[in-house]
Amino acid sequence: MKIYNTLTRSVEDFKENESGKVKMYTCGPTVYHFAHIGNLRTYMMEDVLEKFLRYSGYDVKRVMNITDVGHLTSDADEGEDKMLKGAKRENKTVLEIAEFYKKAFFEDCRKLNIKTPDVIEPATHCIPEFIKTIEGLIEKGYAYFADGNVYFDTSKVADYNALTGHSSDELMVGVRDDVSEDTNKRNKSDFVLWFTKSKFEDQELKWDSPWGYGYPGWHIECSCISMKHCGEYLDIHCGGVDNIFPHHTNEIAQSEAYLGHKWCNYWFHVHHLNDESGKMSKSKGEFLTVSLLESKGYDPIAYRFFCLQSHYRKPLTFSYPALDQASATFTKLKKKIAAIDPSGDVDEVFVGANREKFIAAVGNDMNTALGITNIYDILKADVNGATKLACLKDIDRVLSLDLVKGKAEEVDPEFTQKSELELEIEALIAERAEAKKNKNYQRADEIRNSLKERGITLIDIAKGTEYKID
Ligand code: AMP
Ligand code: ZN
Repeated sequence: MKIYNTLTRSVEDFKENESGKVKMYTCGPTVYHFAHIGNLRTYMMEDVLEKFLRYSGYDVKRVMNITDVGHLTSDADEGEDKMLKGAKRENKTVLEIAEFYKKAFFEDCRKLNIKTPDVIEPATHCIPEFIKTIEGLIEKGYAYFADGNVYFDTSKVADYNALTGHSSDELMVGVRDDVSEDTNKRNKSDFVLWFTKSKFEDQELKWDSPWGYGYPGWHIECSCISMKHCGEYLDIHCGGVDNIFPHHTNEIAQSEAYLGHKWCNYWFHVHHLNDESGKMSKSKGEFLTVSLLESKGYDPIAYRFFCLQSHYRKPLTFSYPALDQASATFTKLKKKIAAIDPSGDVDEVFVGANREKFIAAVGNDMNTALGITNIYDILKADVNGATKLACLKDIDRVLSLDLVKGKAEEVDPEFTQKSELELEIEALIAERAEAKKNKNYQRADEIRNSLKERGITLIDIAKGTEYKID
C-alpha cells in the first residue's frame, strides 16, 4: 500500500512496525456541538483507511479520543473552552453536553457506516496520565511553569516545524484568531500543557495537580491517550488538515521530548469539505449535519458515495446540486445491483483477481474513486450474477456503501468486530454471572463496583445483564 505522509511530504510504501499490529490513532470529536458533514468527511476517509488496511491483511488497533475538556476556541490555546461555551449555549453542564454530543456523533457515524474504533477514550478519564507526562516533561527540561500555567518550551526541540515545513511565525498568524498574546510564553509557539489560570474563571471541570487546581491543554490529550493505548510507537496518526498546525506539530514535540525517540511514522490528513461560501462552520450559514441531509430526503450513504468519489487529499466543495448528482448516480447503481440474478456458483478465482485489482487501485494513496470504478467493472464483467455479488460484497468491506442489500456491517462479521472495551465488559459480565451462581457475592459486587467507577453501569434484566456506558 502506498500512502501520502505529511511528515515527508511524499507518497511512501506503507510499512508497519515490528509488532505486526498497525497502531492507528485518530483525533476524535470535540463534543460541544453536532459534527458537521465536513468533520464527518474526515472520519469517513479515516474509516476507509482502517478498513482497507484490514482488508489488505493487516491487523489494526485503532484508538480515538473524545475531547470533552481543554479545546479552546482558538487552536493556539487561547480563548474560552469550547465545551464550556456549548454548555452555556444550552444551559446544561459540560458533562451533559459531552454525553449528548458524543451519542449524536456515534449516531452520525452509524448512519454513515463508519466503524467504531477499537478504543474510545474521553480526555476527562485520563487526567493522571496527563499529569504524569507533564511532570516528565518538566523533569527533562522541556516544560516550564509561569504565572499559574505549565508551558511546553518549543525552542528545546530540534525540529519543531518538521510536520509543516514552515516556520511557526508564518503559521501562528493564521491560528491566533485575534486573541491577545500570552506574555508568559518564552517563545511565541510555546503552548499550554496545564492551565490553572484562565481569563475565563468559570471553567467547570478542574482537577488537582502539582501545579494547582486546573485542567489540561488540548494537545497533551492526544499524545497521552495514544501512548496509553498504542504504546511508545505509533504507525499512523490521522486528522483533518487543520490539525497539522498547531495540534499535531505540538503532539510530535511533546511526545518525542517525553519518549526520547521518534513517535509516529505516518501522518494522514484529510482535506476539508467546504461549502460554496468557503469554510464550513457550525455557527454561520446553514449548519450542515447528517440529520439535516436526512430531513431533506437524502440517504446518508449517498453522502458517503459523494465523498468517496473524490480524493481525500483534495478539498471538496459541497453543494446540493453536486449531492443530487451523486445521489442519482448512487440510486441508479443500487438499482443495477438489485437487478442482478443471484443464481450460479461463485467463481472464486475471479473474486480473488478482482480483490487484487481493487487493492492495487485503492492502495495507491487511498484512491477511493478508483474503488468506485471497480464497482462498474464488476457489473460489466463477463461472469455470472453470484460471482458479481460476491465481488461487490467483498469490496464493500472497505467502501461500506451497502452495495448488496442491508447495512454494510451485516456483510462481513470481520468488520463488526467488537471494541476491546465491549469484549472486556462482556467477559466481566460472564465472570460476575458465574460468581453469583457460585454464591461468591463479594466477587460479583467487586465487578459491578469496579465497572461503575469507570462509568459503566450494569443493569440486571430477566434475560441476563445489560450495561450502559455513561
Ligand atoms: P473537531 O470536532 O473540531 O475537533 O474536529 C473533528 C475533525 O474534523 C478534526 O479531525 C478536524 O480536522 C476535522 N475537520 C474540521 N473541519 C473540517 C472540514 N471542513 N472538512 C473536513 N474535516 C474537518
Ligand atoms: Zn488530537
